[in-house]
Amino acid sequence: MTGRTIVRAELSEALPGPKYVGLERAPGQRILRVGRRGKFLILPLSGGDDLIVHLGMTGSVSPTPSDKHVRVRLGLNPGPNPELYFQDARRFGRFLLVPSGRYETLPTLHAMGPEPLAPEFSAPAFYRALQASAAPIKPYLLSQRPVSGVGNIYADEALWRARVHPLTPAKAVSKQKAYALAEAIRVVLAASLEFRGTTLQDYRTVNGEVGSYASQLQVYGHSGAPCPRCGRAISKTVVAGRGTHFCSFCQRLPRARPV
Ligand SMILES: [Zn+2]
Repeated sequence: MTGRTIVRAELSEALPGPKYVGLERAPGQRILRVGRRGKFLILPLSGGDDLIVHLGMTGSVSPTPSDKHVRVRLGLNPGPNPELYFQDARRFGRFLLVPSGRYETLPTLHAMGPEPLAPEFSAPAFYRALQASAAPIKPYLLSQRPVSGVGNIYADEALWRARVHPLTPAKAVSKQKAYALAEAIRVVLAASLEFRGTTLQDYRTVNGEVGSYASQLQVYGHSGAPCPRCGRAISKTVVAGRGTHFCSFCQRLPRARPV
């Protein structure tokens, strides 16, 4: 896409709300590069806007329309694939233009923590970020504030590796466990990248392939199965509305400190 000019941007239907704003400004702008922060794709454009794409749960961007849930069609010049389609069955995705760097209308992106595989993500900084919140650690990770890119599956996997209970208040995670959790996040995400991500149902790579990290999952989706570490049954509960898998033996809540 880099270097190509958007000649058309059409919504396939009138899509309400803020998820598809600004597309009328796209025609005539050239795509300067394709970048990413967390799970947001960010494409700076020559006219001073950023094209922001979030795939949500079921979104995909493809040169061929592979299903009936096309939300946006882009016309691109010059190049071999004159059309690009954004498809999204469940409509959690986003495809919009904002003035370059102005992410106030995208609070998750605006307040996003460091990239987990970049040098600026360090264990001491992560520990300090956890000290700043009394929220339970799992929803705090999902907020993307202490570190970017950790979704529901990877939060469960990383918390299990670091032996941290998902309901532990962030500020109550010990320094030792915070350091272990920072390392677990890096290990899990790096391994998932190697396996091209986790396809449970819908996720496809840009080339249409499934990701095979599902075969490596230790706890996510394994409720009732033996914990790979201690052999006791993996528990499933709901934390902040998200299905959450953990080992109640390996991942203990810290005891409240006596007053
Ligand atoms: Zn266990």
